[in-house]
Amino acid sequence: MILVGDRRLGEASPAAAGMLAPSVERASGPAHDFAIAARDLFPEYLELLETETGVAVSLNRRGVLQVAVTESGVKGLRKAALPSTEWLDRNELTRLEPVLSHALGAVLNPNDGCVDNIAMLAALERLVASSDRVPRVEGWVTKVSRHGNDQRVLLGSGEALYAARVVLAPGAWGSSIDGAAWLRFVTPSRGQLVAYESIGLRHVAYGPRGYLVPRGGATIAGSTMESVGFDAATTPDGVAKVNSAAEEICPAISAARVSSAWAGLRPVTPDMLPLLGPDPANPGLLYACGHSRNGILLGPLTGEVIASLVAGEPAGHDLSQFRPDRF
Ligand SMILES: Cc1cc2nc3c(=O)[nH]c(=O)nc-3n(C[C@H](O)[C@H](O)[C@H](O)COP(=O)(O)OP(=O)(O)OC[C@H]3O[C@@H](n4cnc5c(N)ncnc54)[C@H](O)[C@@H]3O)c2cc1C
Repeated sequence: MILVGDRRLGEASPAAAGMLAPSVERASGPAHDFAIAARDLFPEYLELLETETGVAVSLNRRGVLQVAVTESGVKGLRKAALPSTEWLDRNELTRLEPVLSHALGAVLNPNDGCVDNIAMLAALERLVASSDRVPRVEGWVTKVSRHGNDQRVLLGSGEALYAARVVLAPGAWGSSIDGAAWLRFVTPSRGQLVAYESIGLRHVAYGPRGYLVPRGGATIAGSTMESVGFDAATTPDGVAKVNSAAEEICPAISAARVSSAWAGLRPVTPDMLPLLGPDPANPGLLYACGHSRNGILLGPLTGEVIASLVAGEPAGHDLSQFRPDRF
């Protein structure tokens, strides 16, 4: 196995908020079942990662709150709530999260939560660096093509690599790779995030226009969804929108110090579901990309199913909604 990749400003994985919220960012059918299975894989996955690397990654499974700040918000949330959720009235919510005491109530989605994706990436980097079975090649892939029974991967430097199978995971930049037809449906969507000093929030909280995520000594607020190509810079307007959505969820955040702001490029598809599985026209080429708003959540299970497919084994999950050629 060879890992080929290059760094780009705006990579989504380190920029993400780390929410594991399949009950809120809800898909339908087998895609929803896949997302729930992905969430429930995290405890075992992070334990294995810690055993292999010594890096402990914090996982929060306290549940995700959807906060109502108006009477119509209360009605809407109660109407859409799943049977597995719990409605918290104002007093119950205040007991659970004193910083949300201004809200009228909230839906609690049990078992959803968040992961420290920065720590998770550090653990994965360490795992790859310590393995002599996974050599790394720094380079920008420009083209993939069939070469007899193998696949040929051409780099910008002119170097070519050969393999029986190639897994494509180029984030938002896939459309620049020649020879992988379905990558043209993955486009960049910029998201801006703002980190505040912690306001003491313990649960992920969604509001009408954004969300708050507790991470270590910070509370992270997000996010915008902007079609601005590959521009990964923050803007005063974007940061102002995130601030305003955060204050709607928790007015007290206006007094908290902002420690940083950043942006990342989500690899989005027209239906916001990933492309997973072999290219029907070239089965040696496997897609593992286009995870849109949920790539941190879906990442570990994606790795598991793609590894099975590469080994010629069944995926173990219904991937029909993720067919790369569905558009
Ligand atoms: C602001 C924001 C908030 C988010 N919040 C969440 C969240 O709370 N929960 C969640 O589950 N998801 C979230 N996401 C989505 C999630 O981050 C993405 O779906 C996921 O990280 C995508 O991972 P990826 O590996 O496909 O892409 P990336 O992390 O962008 O990585 C792609 C890599 O491929 C490299 N590359 C690309 N093209 C080539 C090439 N031709 N040759 C060589 N290398 C190449 C790039 O340089 C990069 O290193 C968020 C995203 C953003 C931007």
